[in-house]
Amino acid sequence: MPLSFRTRIFAASLTVAAAALALATLIIAWELRREERAVIEQRLRDQTRLIAELLSQGTAAGAGLDAEADRLAELLDARLTLIASDGRVVGDSTADDGALAALENHSDRPEVQQAGTREAAVVARYSTTVEADLLYAAVRTTHPQVAYVRVALPLTTVAEQVRRVGINALLAFALAAPVAVALAWLSSWLLSRRLQAIAGVARQYSAGDLARPSYDYGDDELGTVARVLDASVQELGRRLEEISRDRARMEAILSGMVEGVLVLDRQGRVQLVNRAAQTMLQVDHAAVGRRYLEVVRHPDISAQLTAALGGGQAEPRELPLGASGTRTFVARAAPVAGPNGGAVLVLHDITDLRRADQIRRDFVANVSHELRTPLTAIRGYVEALSEEPPDPALARRFVDVIARHTARMERLVADLLRLARLDARQERLDVTTCDVEQIFTAVQADLAGAIDAKRQQVALSIAADARVVRADSAKLRDVVGNLVENAVNYSPEGAALRLEAVRRDGAVDLVVSDSGPGIPPADLTRVFERFYRVDRSRSHPGGTGLGLAIVRQLVELHGGSVRAENRPEGGARFTVTLPA
Ligand code: ADP
Repeated sequence: MPLSFRTRIFAASLTVAAAALALATLIIAWELRREERAVIEQRLRDQTRLIAELLSQGTAAGAGLDAEADRLAELLDARLTLIASDGRVVGDSTADDGALAALENHSDRPEVQQAGTREAAVVARYSTTVEADLLYAAVRTTHPQVAYVRVALPLTTVAEQVRRVGINALLAFALAAPVAVALAWLSSWLLSRRLQAIAGVARQYSAGDLARPSYDYGDDELGTVARVLDASVQELGRRLEEISRDRARMEAILSGMVEGVLVLDRQGRVQLVNRAAQTMLQVDHAAVGRRYLEVVRHPDISAQLTAALGGGQAEPRELPLGASGTRTFVARAAPVAGPNGGAVLVLHDITDLRRADQIRRDFVANVSHELRTPLTAIRGYVEALSEEPPDPALARRFVDVIARHTARMERLVADLLRLARLDARQERLDVTTCDVEQIFTAVQADLAGAIDAKRQQVALSIAADARVVRADSAKLRDVVGNLVENAVNYSPEGAALRLEAVRRDGAVDLVVSDSGPGIPPADLTRVFERFYRVDRSRSHPGGTGLGLAIVRQLVELHGGSVRAENRPEGGARFTVTLPA
C-alpha cells in the first residue's frame, strides 16, 4: 500500500529532526566530554600545584614523605608520587616504604620531564607501577628532598566521569525526541490539512463543479501554486462554458433549420447531420462517424460530396428525395475552408416553391383560357356586326350574345379579384349573430328565377339548436348562395334541393344537397380547386370554375371547413361546418 503524503511528510520531518537532534547531541556530548576532561585535567593540575605549594612550606622528610604522600593522596582521592630531583621516588601513595626503593627511576617519565615550576604538565599513559592507564599531572616544587610532585588519576575514573556526560546527553536526546515527534506530527498535520483541502477543491473541479470555493490557500509557495492552478481551472471552465454555449446555440440553429445540413471531415466521415438532413437522406444519428459513401445512398449527392472533398465545387442539383421521393430538393456541396478541411452539404426543400410555381403557371393558363372563349366570341360577333349590317333582329341577337359573354368575363374578373383579396387576407370578418333561416330564405329568393325556371323544389330544415350562428352574414350568404346556385345549375329540371342546419359536436353544419347527378368520387376533393370542373363540356356555361374555391376560402376564414360528398340515394351534398 502506498504511503500517504502525510505519513511521508511526517517521516521526512521526523528523520530530519532526529538527525539534527542526534548531531546536536553528539556535538554537545563531545564538547561536554572535552570540557569535562579539561576540567579534570585542570583540577589535577591545581591539586598538583597545591600539593607542591604545601610541600614547599612543609617539613616532612625521609620516611615521613611517603606517609605524607599517602595522607594527601587520601584527601585527594588520587595517586600521589613525590619524586626527588634525580628521579628517585621518595613518596608514593600506592607503594609503602619498603617498595619505594624498588621503584624505577622516574626521571624519564614524560610528565616529569615536561613539568614546569608553575605550570603542571599533564600526560595520559600506561603506568607500569600500578599497571593501569593513568592521567598524570606533574609540577616542580622547592622542597629540599622533593623536586617533583605528581598526582595521577586512573583513566577509568576520568572515563567514568566523562561517560556520565554522555549518558546525560543521551537522556537529553531521549527527552527531546518526543518533542521532535510531536513537532513533526504537528507540522505534517498542518501541511497535509492544507493539501487535503486543495485536493478536495481539485476533486470538486474534476467532478464538474467549478463554483469557486471560499477556501483561503495561504500566501506561501503552496498557496501560490494552488491559486495559479485554481485560476487556470476557472479560466478553462469559463472557456468550456463559452464553447458549450456556442455549441448549444449552433445545435439549436442547426436542428431548427428547415434546410438539411451534413458536414464531413477531411477523411469523408460524417461529423454532423441535422434533423432535417436525417429525414431527407433517410439516415439516423448513427450515421455520425461513418463514411459518407456508406451513409448517402443518392449517387448525385455522393458525387457532389466527392467533388467538394477534392476542393472542387459541383453544380447544385435538383433531386427527388425523402421517404416517398415526392419532394424536390436542391443539393449544394462545398469544401470547408480552413485547416481541418472537409465538406458541407446543404439540402433545400423546394417542393412548395415548385408547386407554387406550377399552380401559378396553371392559374395563368386557366385565366387566359377562360378569357379567350368569351373574347373570341365577342370579337366574332363584333366583326359580323361591323362587316355588313344584319337585319335588326339578328343584330339584336348578336348584341345579346356579346352582352352574355361580357357578363361572363365580368363575373370571372370579379371572382378572380375576390380570390386575390382573400389570398391577400384583405377581406375582414364582421362577425355577428346570424339567423340561419333568414340567410336560407334570402338565398332562395335571390335564385327564385332559376329555381322556378327549372321547376325545382327547395326544402328547408333548421334544427332548433342551429337557428343562429356566429358569422359574417354577407359572406355566409355568399357561401350558401354559391352552393345553392351550383345545386340548381347541376341538377335537372324538377330536382329536389334541400337546405339544412344541424348542430353536431357543438358546431353548426349547413348542408346543401340536391337530387342531381352528384360528383364522381375521385373529384370530390378536387372540386374546390380553382378552375376545376368535373366535366368541362357539361359544366354550367355561366360558371367560372372559381365558385367552390371562393366558398372554401370564405369558410376557412371563419375557422370552419367544407366538404363534398354524394348522397346514398343520389345527388351531391355540400356540408359547411362552422365552429360554434
Ligand atoms: P362552376 O363555376 O363551374 O360551377 P364551381 O367551383 O362552383 O365552378 O364548381 C366546380 C365544379 O364542381 C363544377 O364545374 C361542377 O362540375 C362541380 N359541381 C359543383 N356543384 C355541383 C353539384 N351540386 N352537383 C354536381 N356537380 C357539382
